[in-house]
Amino acid sequence: MDISQSERKKSYESMSSSSPQSIHDMMSSLKIGEELVEPAQPHEALVLILSYLNLFELLRMNQVCKSLRDAIDSDILLWLDIVVEPPLNLRINDDNLLKFTSKAQGRLRSLVLPSCVRITDDGLLRVIQNNPHINKLYIPSCSQLTPDGVVRAVKILAKHNNKLFLRLENIYNITKEHLQIIYSCLKLNPEEQNRQKSKLYLGYGHFQVQNDLDPIDIEVCPKCKDVRLVFECPRESCRSKNKRPLAACKGCLLCIPRCEGCGGCVDLDDEIGETVCLDLVCLECWLQLRKCNLCNKPYCNRHVDKIEWSRPDSYGFVCEVCSTETES
Ligand SMILES: [Zn+2]
Ligand SMILES: [Zn+2]
Ligand SMILES: [Zn+2]
Ligand SMILES: [Zn+2]
Ligand SMILES: [Zn+2]
Repeated sequence: MDISQSERKKSYESMSSSSPQSIHDMMSSLKIGEELVEPAQPHEALVLILSYLNLFELLRMNQVCKSLRDAIDSDILLWLDIVVEPPLNLRINDDNLLKFTSKAQGRLRSLVLPSCVRITDDGLLRVIQNNPHINKLYIPSCSQLTPDGVVRAVKILAKHNNKLFLRLENIYNITKEHLQIIYSCLKLNPEEQNRQKSKLYLGYGHFQVQNDLDPIDIEVCPKCKDVRLVFECPRESCRSKNKRPLAACKGCLLCIPRCEGCGGCVDLDDEIGETVCLDLVCLECWLQLRKCNLCNKPYCNRHVDKIEWSRPDSYGFVCEVCSTETES
């Protein structure tokens, strides 16, 4: 979730908690999906919160009644930055995407489609052709997109935008050649690009790009030479040991396994702590995590919420593996 969205959520929450006759009450009193008998102007407060809703909520609101639908459809500002979050990402297909992006009337600025597995090259291309001024195209893990389709889209966008921001993690089969074309579209010098990059791994699916305005996320891994996300090491010891700072344990996750806790490199030949969830955790992080009473394994930070707090804190917890074993 990006900052503007979390702010949006926060202000939405504070709005809904500030008035007792809250937005939640108002929304629950509306019959979603049914046409109201007498179309009336939507309540002022409803119109006000529209800009705080995510796409899924907006599409639901769109079905409430005709006057609300008109209010939503005619407010072009609501449609300029499309972010498809779960669970919508698994459902939208090319036709849906075309339909709701068309509400931006060709002025779409950002298109964020993480793991939208049903979107194809054709679908993306149609949206791009209708909205060539998109300058933020985030399509990580869109498994049906091909490198050629992505390159076609980027070429169109590059013609209409001075600056482009792309997130292309997990687009299968992107080669160095594709990356080269994309770099030249973005007017980037690959050498400079590699030197500037400094990504730290913050656990599965999350990473911190030191320069938030990095135009592209993927690069050629210095170890395997494949095009992937490549991470630096946050460990002080690694930084000081290496003559060329950060070079030795810089690489993709397949080449350099990383700890879910600190993002540091983990040497699989060294002693490492086992976790219930089987995620990789370095020994230092392992020591600090709470362990299961029976098997003495912790959950990693990502899965720590799986701990059942059914017992008082001082008695610790029993992991799900051990609880199923004791049940059977
Ligand atoms: Zn690699
Ligand atoms: Zn660690
Ligand atoms: Zn390291
Ligand atoms: Zn256990
Ligand atoms: Zn885990």
